[in-house]
Formats: sequence, structure tokens, C-alpha cells
Amino acid sequence: MLTEQDILALRRVIDASRRIMAFTGAGVSEESGIPTYRGHGGTWTKYDPEKYASIDYFRRDPSYFWRFFREVRMDIMSKAQPNGAHLALVELERRGRLSAVVTQNIDGLHQRAGSQQVYELHGNTTRFYCTRCREYYDLDTIRAALQKEDVPHCGCSGVLRPDVVLFGEFLPEFAMERAIAEAQACDLCLVIGSSLVVYPAANIPLYAKQAGAQLAIINIDPTPLDDYADLVLNTPAAELLAKAVEVQENK
Ligand code: NAD
Repeated sequence: MLTEQDILALRRVIDASRRIMAFTGAGVSEESGIPTYRGHGGTWTKYDPEKYASIDYFRRDPSYFWRFFREVRMDIMSKAQPNGAHLALVELERRGRLSAVVTQNIDGLHQRAGSQQVYELHGNTTRFYCTRCREYYDLDTIRAALQKEDVPHCGCSGVLRPDVVLFGEFLPEFAMERAIAEAQACDLCLVIGSSLVVYPAANIPLYAKQAGAQLAIINIDPTPLDDYADLVLNTPAAELLAKAVEVQENK
């Protein structure tokens, strides 16, 4: 349950910092209606990620990924709206206090909320491209294509894939470099809604801590980095951040 004490504690660390980097995971979008992968009711408790989200399996048989996307993710992704946590980060950036959002999320909600400097470590599942000619497609085009075929294809007949990092693939170099640079330059790393078990992304808050930044973790469950943190708040993120930063929540 959210307490006044939690709100004040978070506000205090935010007010004491000049350069904040937010590091976000699936939990920041949970209150927007997008299920997390791990934790209670998480997607990977029902679907085997090896089969539905690995590059090896995708190359062998892309129909698994596309069925998973059509049945589980497509409608959720299009209906989700940014929540109070996304909006609070936009406001901190507008006030000149937050320099970047580094996200593991693939839902594009930070950008839709209005965040300008967003580094996506795992890509974005509202963008797609052809595995043969690299032409890009948007979600509406994919939705229409999936009504006609199980595996959408490009005009050049190449198989389409999401612009996300599947298990077994490398992270985008530019986003990772920028994330490390932001971690080393910030004075507060605000981790929001991440289990901090997916590497190498989970190293980013550690880089910030090692470079002398404060580390604040907002996550409903404990994380392996809690012992390194200056502040840990085990509470849902949306209302907490909206109240700490004083923005209106999207309800
Ligand atoms: P994760 O599923 O491993 O962990 C999410 C964490 O968020 C959990 O520890 C959970 O306790 C916490 N949480 C759940 N609801 C919360 C809330 N309302 N407020 C605060 N915390 C909450 O997610 P992860 O750490 O981001 O790493 C897993 C991978 O999952 C990433 O690679 C990411 O690409 C992918 N993913 C993304 C989305 C998305 O884009 N929205 C959704 C699911 C998974």
C-alpha cells in the first residue's frame, strides 16, 4: 500500500539530484495493462520464451512468434496508454532534471507519453522490418497482414519480424553505449519496475552506482540489487511517481 512516507522519501531523492537517469522495465507499464514477463501472472509463466521469443526458434519456425504476438500482445500493445509513472518522467525531463530514460521495454509508451530522450535496449514491438530487404512496417500494417496470413511477408516475399531483441541476439550497440554513458554521468539512477535479472541490461544501474550515483529502486517485488540501493520502495510505480513529481495520472 502506498504511504505518504514513500512519496516523501522518493521526492526527497529526486529533489536532491541534478541529473536523473530512469532505468525502466516491464513493471512501469503493468498499470497500463501490459503484463510483465516475470513475477505473478507474468507472460513467461504461461509461454516458453525459448519457443516464442528466441531467434533460433524464429528462424526455424516464425509462426510461433507470430501466433504469440497475434493472440497475446497485439491488442494489448495497441490499447495501452501511458500511466502516471511515464508522465512523471516526462515532467522531470521537462524540468531539466532527467537526462534520459533507458528502457528494457518494447512498448513505446515512454515516447507516446512525451519523453524525448529514450534509449531502447530491447527494441520496440510496434515497429517491424523485413528480414530480407529491411523495409520497415508499422503496427497497423502488421495487423492487416495478420488477417490474411499467419506469418506476415514483405512485398519482396521476405518474412517480417519485430524490431525487438529476441533471446539469443545482441543488444543494439548505440543504445547500450548511450545507456552506459548516461549511467556514468547521472547523480540518481531511478530504477522503475524491473526484476533486474535480464543481463546485460541489469548492469546499467550498477554502472551508475559504481560511478557514485544514488540508486533508488521502485519495484513491487525485491530485486537482486536491493542491497546496493540507497532507497527501495516495494510499491506500484504509477501513483507513487505521479504523487512524488506532482503530475496528473492518466486513469
Ligand atoms: P520483468 O517482467 O522481468 O520484471 C518486472 C518487474 O516489475 C517485476 O519484478 C515486478 O515485481 C515489477 N512490477 C510489476 N508491476 C509493477 C508495478 N505496477 N510497479 C512497480 N513494479 C512492478 O521485466 P524486466 O525487468 O523489464 O525484464 C524483462 C524483459 O521483459 C525485458 O527484456 C523487456 O523487453 C520485456 N518486457 C517488456 C514489456 C513491455 O514493453 N511493456 C512487457 C513485458 C516484458
